[in-house]
Amino acid sequence: MATGKINVSVENIFPLIKKFLYSDHEIFLRELISNATDATLKLKHLVSIGEAKIDFGEPLIEVKVDKKGKKLHIIDQGIGMTSEEIKKYINEVAFSGAEEFLEKYKEADKDAGIIGHFGLGFYSSFMVADKVEILSKSYKEEPAVHWSCDGTPKFSLKKGTRKTHGTEIILHIADDSTEFLEDGRIRTLLQKYNKFMPIPIKFGTRTETLPKPDGAKEDEPAPTREVDDIINNPKPAWTRKPSDLKDEEYSAFYRELYPMQFEEPLFHIHLNVDYPFNLTGILYFPKLTNDLNIQKDRIQLYQNQVFITDNVENIVPEFLTMLRGVIDSPDIPLNVSRSYLQADAAVKKISSYITRKVADKLNSLFKSNREDFEQKWNDIKIVIEYGMLSEEKFFEKAEKFALYPTVDGQYLTFEELSEKIKTLQTDKDDKLVILYASDKEEQHSYIEAAKAKGFEVLLLDSPIVTHLMQKLETSKENISFARVDADHLDNLIKKEDTKISKLSDDEKDKLKQNIEEVLSDKGYTVQMEPLDSADSPFIITEPEFMRRMKEMQRTGGGGGMFGMGNMPDMYNLVVNTNHELVYEILNTKTAKKRERLINQSLDLARLSKGLLKGEELTQFIQRSYQMIK
Ligand code: ADP
Repeated sequence: MATGKINVSVENIFPLIKKFLYSDHEIFLRELISNATDATLKLKHLVSIGEAKIDFGEPLIEVKVDKKGKKLHIIDQGIGMTSEEIKKYINEVAFSGAEEFLEKYKEADKDAGIIGHFGLGFYSSFMVADKVEILSKSYKEEPAVHWSCDGTPKFSLKKGTRKTHGTEIILHIADDSTEFLEDGRIRTLLQKYNKFMPIPIKFGTRTETLPKPDGAKEDEPAPTREVDDIINNPKPAWTRKPSDLKDEEYSAFYRELYPMQFEEPLFHIHLNVDYPFNLTGILYFPKLTNDLNIQKDRIQLYQNQVFITDNVENIVPEFLTMLRGVIDSPDIPLNVSRSYLQADAAVKKISSYITRKVADKLNSLFKSNREDFEQKWNDIKIVIEYGMLSEEKFFEKAEKFALYPTVDGQYLTFEELSEKIKTLQTDKDDKLVILYASDKEEQHSYIEAAKAKGFEVLLLDSPIVTHLMQKLETSKENISFARVDADHLDNLIKKEDTKISKLSDDEKDKLKQNIEEVLSDKGYTVQMEPLDSADSPFIITEPEFMRRMKEMQRTGGGGGMFGMGNMPDMYNLVVNTNHELVYEILNTKTAKKRERLINQSLDLARLSKGLLKGEELTQFIQRSYQMIK
C-alpha cells in the first residue's frame, strides 16, 4: 500500500469550492457520469482501432444508492486506470484542475456565473462526499487498484480486487448532503443532466409487463419480468442525420424534451455544422402568444450530449430564445463568465450561424408553401418581428418573407404591398403612406372609411410592431406608417387638389368659430376639411407621431427617449365641410340648438373612436333617448 500527498498549494480546496458553488452541488453526478461515459467511449475507440483486444459488448453505466451504508456508487465498464494513471490523472490532473477552477471562479463576476459550473471534473465529488474511493482495473494486463481520499491532500493507493476492466467510484455521502441518498433525487438528476448521454445509464430495475401467453384465462395476471431501468436515450434525434429522420420523429423528440407540452410545434430546424465550429441541434418554432417573457428559456444547451443549462442567453440571439429545442456544441466555452461569453469570437460565429439558418429555413418554408406559411404567420410573427428589430442581418433576410396582413386576411410582402398602394396611397410629398389598424373592432369605423376610399389597410397588432414601423421608416426611404385613426387621411386626400369645399371661406370661418366656442375647454384642434359627403360629419384623429411615441414608451424600447415622461393626449376634430349636418349646424337659428347639435356630433365621433366612457357615456345615452322620445 502506498500513501502520499496530493500536490496542491492550497491545503484544502474543497471547503472553498463547496462554499462558492453552494447551490450547485448536484452537478457532481453529471461530472462523474461524464467521466464514466468518456472512459467507455475511449475503450470503444481503442477496440475499434485494434488497440484493445477485448469484446466491447454493450457496456452500461450503473448508478446505485446504498442508503444504509450512506454510499453512492457510479460504476462503468470503460478503460479503467492503472495505479500509474491514477497517480497522474487523479492526483495531479484532477486536483490541479480544481485549483485552476477556483482561480477562475474567484475572478469571474459572481452574478454572471460560469455556465453550469461545467468542467469541475472528478473533484466535484468532494462537494457532497467526505470520502471518495476509486476501484479500478485497466483494460491493460495490470492489477486492479483501490484509491481512497478524504478530501485532504492525503490519499492512499493499494491493490484492488476488481476483476473486469472499468471503474467504480464510491462516494461516502457527507452528513450535510444526505439528499443524494434519496432514489427520487438521484433519478431526477439523472433525468436532468444525463437524459441524452451516449452510453446507457442504469438506475435500478423496473417491472415490465409481458404479453399473456396464448390460451391464458381472463383473470390470470399478465406475466412480468424485471429489467434494467435505463434512464437515457443514447441516440437523441439531434445526433442523427436529418435525412434519416421523418417528421414524426421530430415531433416525438419534441415531446421527449417537453413532456408537458401538448401542442405540436409549427416546424423545426435541424442544425448541423462541423466547420469552423461544431454544432448540432434542433430548434422548434412553437405557437407563440404575444407575451414575450413567459416563453423564454426553453432551449437546452448540451455539450456532447451532456446537459449544461437551459439559459442560453448570450449564446443564441435574444429573439431566438423564444424558440425551443436543443443546441449541442463543444465549442462554447463554459468556464468563463457570461459577460466574457458575449464577446467571445466563437460564440459570435455560432450565434450568427443560428440566425442565418433560421432565416434560411423561414425563407424556404415561405417559398415552398406560401399558403401554409401564411397560416402560421400569426403564431410566428413575434419572433420574426423581434428578430428584424434586433438583428440587422436578419432584418435584411426577412425582407423576402416578412408578411404584412391586410384587415381582409391577405398576406403581402413589403414589395407586394408597395406595388399595390403606390397609385392611391401617396401623400403630397410622394411618400408612400401605409395605413394600418391595430384592432379591427375598435377602429372599425375608421377602417371602413379608409376602405371606402379604396385604401388598403393592414392589420398590425403585435406588441412590438410600432418599433418595427419606426425601423422600417428609417431604413426605407419615402414610406410612412399611419394608423387609420391618425391625422393622415386628409393628407392623402389633399393631394387630389380636386376636392372642393361647398362652403365659402367666410362660412368656414364662422362655423369653425362656432364649434370652437362650444368645445373651448375640451382640448381639440378643430380642422375644417372638404371630405366626401358620405364621410362622417365629425371625425376625431390623433397625430400618428404622438400616439406611437406613447405606445413605444409602454412597450419599452422608447425608454431612452428624452423628456417623453407624461405626454398629454392630443386629438384633432376634423369637420367635414361637405356634410349635410354640418350645413345644418351652420344655418341653425338658435344658439342653443346649435350647441346641442355640435355636442351630439362630437359625442358620436368620440363614441366611434372609443373615447366616450363612464359618466359622459351615460349622459350621452340619456340624452339620445330624450331626443328620440
Ligand atoms: P477531466 O475529465 O476534465 O479530464 P477529471 O478531473 O474529471 O477531469 O478527471 C481527470 C482524469 O481522470 C480524466 O481525464 C481521466 O483520465 C481520469 N478519469 C476520471 N474518471 C475516470 C473513469 N471513470 N475511468 C477512467 N478514467 C477516469
